[in-house]
Amino acid sequence: MYDIDKIRADFPILSRTVYNRPLVYLDNGATTQKPRCVVEAMTEEYYSVNANVHRGVHFLSQKATELHEASRETVRSFINAQSINEIVFTRGTTESINLLASCFGDAFMNEGDEVIVSVMEHHSNIVPWQLLAERKGIKLRVIPMTDSGVLMLDEYEKLFNDRTRIVSVAHVSNVLGTVNPIKEMVRIAHAHGVPVLVDGAQSTPHFAVDMQLLDCDFFAFSAHKIYGPTGVGVLYGKEKWLDKLPPYQGGGEMIKNVSFEKTTFNELPYKFEAGTPDYIGTHALAVALDYVSKIGMDSIYSHERELTSYAMQQMQQIDGIRIFGTAADKDAVISFLVGNIHHLDMGTLLDRLGIAVRTGHHCAEPLMSRLGIEGTVRASFALYNTKEEVDILVAGIKRVASMF
Ligand code: PLP
Repeated sequence: MYDIDKIRADFPILSRTVYNRPLVYLDNGATTQKPRCVVEAMTEEYYSVNANVHRGVHFLSQKATELHEASRETVRSFINAQSINEIVFTRGTTESINLLASCFGDAFMNEGDEVIVSVMEHHSNIVPWQLLAERKGIKLRVIPMTDSGVLMLDEYEKLFNDRTRIVSVAHVSNVLGTVNPIKEMVRIAHAHGVPVLVDGAQSTPHFAVDMQLLDCDFFAFSAHKIYGPTGVGVLYGKEKWLDKLPPYQGGGEMIKNVSFEKTTFNELPYKFEAGTPDYIGTHALAVALDYVSKIGMDSIYSHERELTSYAMQQMQQIDGIRIFGTAADKDAVISFLVGNIHHLDMGTLLDRLGIAVRTGHHCAEPLMSRLGIEGTVRASFALYNTKEEVDILVAGIKRVASMF
């Protein structure tokens, strides 16, 4: 039984008003709201446990370290990785991908080598590879998509050649909501001896992800998109790969011994975690993961899928609407334009009705070019959204449209 009222009561912000109207928060793709337990865990740790982690002999440092390392185990279990050595804490998906592009590029890529990305990537899975292209002369190859927003797997397969070193693709598009067939894409890449990095920023909040099932080599996600704090993320990597990669940044914690003659590096995963980690944030992430696990990722998935198909049905009936992304396997994201109304105007006017949506290119300018538009309005759902909120959105869009 999905008790939506009980769930909503866990999120204090959902009961506030904006412009004297109840808040309808539909910008979850950008960031999710936080349940009370996550915020309280952070406050509680600052008030009663705070001390820098690792290396500390004193009580508080040991307690903080225990919480931080227990969080690594929570993450491992949540994504079903084989070992905690495979869980690297970062600042977010963006940093995870930058880390990987930089370290993998240094270790395994040379001038003329290629990375395969898709046309629907977020900038954070394009620009790190372009930076590497500038540094090392590597090339980006791009998987095209159909008009409904489905990646063309036959074209994908044709992109492989003896210079292909890695595939880096989004699990779920933050604009189209398309769920990409990662398992199949990994199978194809592995058949060519090529590893795969999956950008899981938009999948982890919505359905269960299983590293051993997907068999991807690397996986990145952000805490703040799954009801956790800002500034914390995860890079999962198979141990056999992480072992072979050089460190990303230098500093405390990532070393074993330092001398001016020679420095040796720490074991996994600490080799990639230079400096004081956001240990308050990692603990809060674990609390968030426990929170969604308690509700059940499968229940969240069913609830959000029902909401998305309801919203699609209702929105498709609006005069002059164009919806971008109509894949059969579509997640909780709906991007649209109505008539000639600029996305910014639509977003601004919806905001006055208390409805928070995102507008613009959604950090996916190449995808906007592919669609032949400059931007969209995007409504994205979370575990606490309701059909009533979808109705308010639909009525709001109609009302704005009638003003033009
Ligand atoms: N990848 C995708 C698909 C995203 O939607 C986002 C954020 O919107 C990111 C990467 C970047 O995430 P972050 O800003 O948390 O690093």
